[in-house]
Amino acid sequence: MVERVDVAVVGLGAMGANALWRLAERGVSVVGFEQFTVAHPLGSSHGATRLFREACLEHPDLTPIARLAKTLYRELEAHGGEELLRITGGVMMGAPDSDVIAGTRAAASAHGLTLVDLSHDELAERYPQLAELAPTDVAVLDPGAGVAFPEPTIRAAVDRALALGAEVVENTRVLAVEAGDDGVLVRTATGEWLADRVILAQGAWLAAELPWVELQPIRTPMTWFEPRATPNAAAPDAAPASEFALDRLPVFVRQLSESEVLWGHGSVGAVAGPEKGALIKAGVGDIWQERVRIDPEQLDRGVTPADWRQVSALLAEAVPAIEPLPARVDPCMVTISPDDQFVVGRSPRHPRVIVGGGDSGHAFKHAPALGEILARFALDEPQLVDTAFIDPARFA
Ligand SMILES: Cc1cc2nc3c(=O)[nH]c(=O)nc-3n(C[C@H](O)[C@H](O)[C@H](O)COP(=O)(O)OP(=O)(O)OC[C@H]3O[C@@H](n4cnc5c(N)ncnc54)[C@H](O)[C@@H]3O)c2cc1C
Repeated sequence: MVERVDVAVVGLGAMGANALWRLAERGVSVVGFEQFTVAHPLGSSHGATRLFREACLEHPDLTPIARLAKTLYRELEAHGGEELLRITGGVMMGAPDSDVIAGTRAAASAHGLTLVDLSHDELAERYPQLAELAPTDVAVLDPGAGVAFPEPTIRAAVDRALALGAEVVENTRVLAVEAGDDGVLVRTATGEWLADRVILAQGAWLAAELPWVELQPIRTPMTWFEPRATPNAAAPDAAPASEFALDRLPVFVRQLSESEVLWGHGSVGAVAGPEKGALIKAGVGDIWQERVRIDPEQLDRGVTPADWRQVSALLAEAVPAIEPLPARVDPCMVTISPDDQFVVGRSPRHPRVIVGGGDSGHAFKHAPALGEILARFALDEPQLVDTAFIDPARFA
C-alpha cells in the first residue's frame, strides 16, 4: 500500500532534520527518511561542535540566514531544554585584505553588525593564546560568533517533529525518488510513499542525485588537540588547561596565507563526552583546500599523518601553546559546490522536488534556518531572507 503525505524528506542530517521540524510546526503531514540512525557519525554532522559566525565571511547574504538560525536555535532549545548554541564571540585574524578579514567586514557592513577591532596589545591581553600575530596582520572580534552543537541539534529537531506528529523512518535508505504530475513516489526496500513534494537533503550522497551540478563530496578530518603539557622551547610558559577552555579561547579563524586558513576553539567541557569535550578543536578551511572528490560509500575511515600534517603545522605557527600532534582524529565529509555556496531551493528539473545540499563546509551554523527555507519552498510560502545566491537553478 502506498502511504500519502504532504512532504517527504530524504536524509535527516543538519538540513533534513530541521526541514522536518519546520514542516511539522506547520501541521502538514511529513515523513523523514534516514539511512542510518538519527545523529549518526557517518555523514557531515558529527563531532560535537561547529563554528557559528554572524558576520559570514563566505557571503554577505549568509548573515540574515545566520540571524534567522540563531532565533530558531533558541526556539528549539526552549522545546528540548538542551543547549544547542553558545555565543562566545569569535576572533578573525589575517592580512587586512585577506578573505577572512575582508569577507567578515563586508558581511558586517552589509547588515549593520558591529565588529570590534583589536590592537595587538588588546589581543594579547584578552586572548593570550592567539597573540602570535604577524605585525601586519589585524584581529577583529565578531561578538555574535560561537559554537553550535550538531548532534543535540539534530536530535532536538527530530524529537520536536515527532512530538508534532511527523513520521520518522530510520535505518532505511531511500532507493528511488520518482517525480511525476501527481506527486513524488519515494521508494525504500520496505515501502512506498506518495508525497506532494520531496526535499532531498542527502549531504554527501546528494552529489549522485543531481547530475546537473558538479557537487564534490570531499573527506575532511576533524582534529582535536591538548595544551602543551610541559614547558618547551616553543611555549616556555605553557598556560594551564583552563586557559584553553571555550570561555578563555573562543572561536577563532586565522588566515595565514592565500590558501591556508586555520580555525578552532577551546574545549567545551562535558558537551559531547569527556574525550571530545575536554579537547581543543582545530582544522583547516575547506573552501581554501585542494579538492579530491570521494564517493561517500567508500569514505576511508582510517587515519594517517596526512590527515593532520597541515593543521599541525599551522597550529605550531599560530598557537604554539597547543600541542601540535592531535589527541584525536575523526573522518568527516563536506560537499563543495562550484561557487562554494549552498544549493538550496526548488530543483530546476522538477517543481515538486526541493534540494537542500552543497553545504560547502559552512552550513551547520545555518541548519535551523535552512530547514525553514526548505519548508517554505516545499509549501510555496514566501521566503523571509534572500535565497537567490543559493538557488539550485544557477547551475542548471
Ligand atoms: C570537519 C568539518 C568541520 C566543519 N565546520 C563547520 C563549521 O565550523 N561551521 C559550519 O557552519 N559548518 C561546518 N561544517 C559543515 C557542516 O557540518 C555541514 O555543512 C553540514 O553538517 C551538512 O549537513 P547536511 O544536512 O548537508 O548533511 P548531513 O548532515 O550529512 O545529512 C545528510 C543525511 O542524509 C542521509 N542520507 C543520504 N542519502 C540517503 C538516502 N538515500 N536515504 C536516506 N538517508 C540518506 C545521510 O545518512 C545523512 O544523515 C563542517 C564540516 C566538517 C566535516
